Amino acid sequence: MHLIQLRWKERFRCPRCEGIEFMLVRSTRCRDAEKRVPLLVCKSCHRQTSVTSGTIFHKSKVPLTKWSPAAYLVSIDKCGISATTLGRHLSVVSYWSAWLMLNKLRKAMSERNSIYKLDGDVHLAEFFLGGISHGAGNGAAPPHVVPS
Ligand SMILES: [Zn+2]
Repeated sequence: MHLIQLRWKERFRCPRCEGIEFMLVRSTRCRDAEKRVPLLVCKSCHRQTSVTSGTIFHKSKVPLTKWSPAAYLVSIDKCGISATTLGRHLSVVSYWSAWLMLNKLRKAMSERNSIYKLDGDVHLAEFFLGGISHGAGNGAAPPHVVPS
């Protein structure tokens, strides 16, 4: 229910018919059905909706309990965490899963940042300016840090 409240702030709305009443159902076909987030079934049109649909978590095989610490780790690392480090912190996630999670989180963060425009006086504790790239990927040199 907490995820439903996070997704639909005031009340669930069916994406097809705008209905507000729903039932929670768990898939019985999945191997680990009890670990999965239940589906919401609209009582009017019977459309099934996942609480993760339309988000970066949709159809992810990585459980949401791994996504939450991943988002935290990506957001606090100023120089950019690598997929290898992220995978190591999440322990059971493979490199490619960590890489995919990292890219989805970065894309979501950049889309959210593009919404906001700085205005007026902006005070910074530190910032990164430029830097020399030695190729794409993890081998690139970190940008110069300019203290405030
Ligand atoms: Zn509906």
